[in-house]
Amino acid sequence: MRHREIAFFEGSFVPLAEANINVMTHAFNYGTAVFEGIRGYWSEDDQEIYLFRPREHFVRLIQNASLLKMKLPYDADMLCELATEMVRRNGYREDVYIRPLVYKTARQIGTKLSPGDDVTMFVVPMRDYVDTSRPLAVSVSSWRRVEDNAIPARGKICGAYVNSALAATEARDNGYDEAIVLNSAGKVAEGAAMNVFIVRDGKLVTTPVYADILEGITRHTVVELARWELGIETEFRPIDRSELYIADEVFFCGTGAQIAAIGSVDRRPVGSGQVGPVTRRLQALYGDVVRGRVRHYGKWLLPCQMA
Ligand code: PMP
Repeated sequence: MRHREIAFFEGSFVPLAEANINVMTHAFNYGTAVFEGIRGYWSEDDQEIYLFRPREHFVRLIQNASLLKMKLPYDADMLCELATEMVRRNGYREDVYIRPLVYKTARQIGTKLSPGDDVTMFVVPMRDYVDTSRPLAVSVSSWRRVEDNAIPARGKICGAYVNSALAATEARDNGYDEAIVLNSAGKVAEGAAMNVFIVRDGKLVTTPVYADILEGITRHTVVELARWELGIETEFRPIDRSELYIADEVFFCGTGAQIAAIGSVDRRPVGSGQVGPVTRRLQALYGDVVRGRVRHYGKWLLPCQMA
């Protein structure tokens, strides 16, 4: 079956080309919107796309919408149904990425949040977001992470992604793959669109939620898989920049990035500079879990019943 590009927009399914907002829309002018990113993995064996932890993403979307005083007319279960319906209608037979957005619709000048918001969702094919076949070269950004009292990083607020865009672009312009951003206290926060873990003395360490990070769903997945499948505990504590330089392993995780090994930070090799053993095991396990090859974690998958 050939795929069709169908989006969910203003309460119904429409061709993606017709899912357009007016230039006066508050969200376009001021960044007053929240979004999500959800992956769908194509299983050749099952002829099925599995959405990975969509419910958790939609619960987070609803919570974050409330930060901007927005209230959705759908609960997380209804949003899951809309997402599976949209994926079915698009007919992709490959890995996909779903982008839901909730945005302020008022067509007026002025920053105050007035009544009026809407929900939209589209889906695109997606393979690697960052290269997971090799260790990445990353730099510590000269940009600081937005602070909770400026724009909450946990909110996945569209306007806050200017911060991510500046950091990621600086890294690329300087010849790196990606950036690690410090928070205003000077401790490690996260990547432009991913959380950070380090491995020290056989233990995983990641930043606590109050470090100005997005409370990542992949981060949670890594903690669970490490604990239950690899017998490795995670320590939640602030991470110094200098720990990145002496860690045994460093990796990114996120819906887009999946689990991406970091081979160097600021041109200093991490460990051997190759993909470390803990990162490698987590990558393999994560790949199996998201494609429905580990029965126990079927609880995290929502099949889209492709015809
Ligand atoms: N941090 C930021 C800033 C992000 O944009 C993302 C991607 N959503 C992540 C971390 C990873 O979060 P998740 O695992 O929930 O995709």
